Amino acid sequence: MPRMKIEAIDLFYVALPEIKATADGTQDTLLARVRADNGLYGWGESDSSPLVSLSAYVMPMSHVNIMNINSALIGETVETPEDVRRLRAKAGAYGLDVQQLDHAVAAVDIALWDLVGKFLQEPVYRLLGYERSYPKLPYASVLFGDDPDETREIAADLRGRGFAAAKFGWGPMGRGTADDDEALVAAAREGLGQHAQLMVDAGVVWGEDDATAYDRAVRFSNYNITWLEEPLLSDEVDAYKRLTDRKPPVPIAAGEGADFYRSADDLMVNGGIDFVQIDVGRTGGITVCDRICKRALELGVTYVNHTFKSHLQLAASLHVFAGVEKFRLLEYPAGDSPLILGLTAPTGLPVNEKGMVDCPETPGLGVDVNLDTVREYLQPVRIEVGGKLVHETPEV
Ligand SMILES: [Mg+2]
Repeated sequence: MPRMKIEAIDLFYVALPEIKATADGTQDTLLARVRADNGLYGWGESDSSPLVSLSAYVMPMSHVNIMNINSALIGETVETPEDVRRLRAKAGAYGLDVQQLDHAVAAVDIALWDLVGKFLQEPVYRLLGYERSYPKLPYASVLFGDDPDETREIAADLRGRGFAAAKFGWGPMGRGTADDDEALVAAAREGLGQHAQLMVDAGVVWGEDDATAYDRAVRFSNYNITWLEEPLLSDEVDAYKRLTDRKPPVPIAAGEGADFYRSADDLMVNGGIDFVQIDVGRTGGITVCDRICKRALELGVTYVNHTFKSHLQLAASLHVFAGVEKFRLLEYPAGDSPLILGLTAPTGLPVNEKGMVDCPETPGLGVDVNLDTVREYLQPVRIEVGGKLVHETPEV
């Protein structure tokens, strides 16, 4: 078999010209391109602060447990799924005392799976041990409007665009009275119509207050919601347990705040959640998310992706659970940022004529990055320490 080694890890910080203070993760991103010595390359994306993550790739060594990701990976052989897992562990060991590691390393981990898929001529889901992939029902993921009227309009627009499922989150939810909260959900249901699936994302607004979360779950159950998401803070696993012990009339979802395998596991095992929502660009990449997905299967918890980034990230998310038929829902970023659809070429992952999203069957992730978009929104970065250059944005 021909050999393949990692020659370079190219990092690109892309951002819209204006960043707004809303809960919208599609305003900027960190892209990683892994280039191999045989001309192949892979792409990945991290969902966190791009510059904080970038520093985990290039920071000077502090001691043997704080060494950067580049030094762990460049020059390494990578040819098989076992290699990717070995390198993910190596990067973890190099950054053992770096909290940001799991967010940052996700980008290169995804890129390595893409690269190895291209090398072995297999879609990533097959490398994860699945024989075939199953189409997923995309749910549009949007923020609540500023009031019920605006929420109703957003919902009606999604319905007009043909979405059979949609999630509304954050915005004014939990900021007013219980009646205000209920009015938002009622408006979303009205706009979507009676047949679409509706999910509600409370955006961790009730902190550790399981009594309020339970009250809202009861109120929202009148609108036939598929789940109530993140009513409580991710770390408040005891509060999740108190909430789920009360047997709320709607399923409870959480997990996007889980930064590690163990925090996701904690929410499932000790928090009693029904849906675990994992962000491949945040929770350590495909390697870690694959493990969480298989753990969810074992525990009888439903795995769903959390994705509020580009369709590159969406493809990476999808490969993780594409092979599990009963994990059927796919969070599908539906906003209008050019960093959602514009980052992949020629398009992102389309919704097919049956209203479903198919996992790409081409090698790797099955999507490619649109370099024109990268160039257009590129924020060149140059980091010098003590007069020594430690990072400069490479050629796109
Ligand atoms: Mg959410």
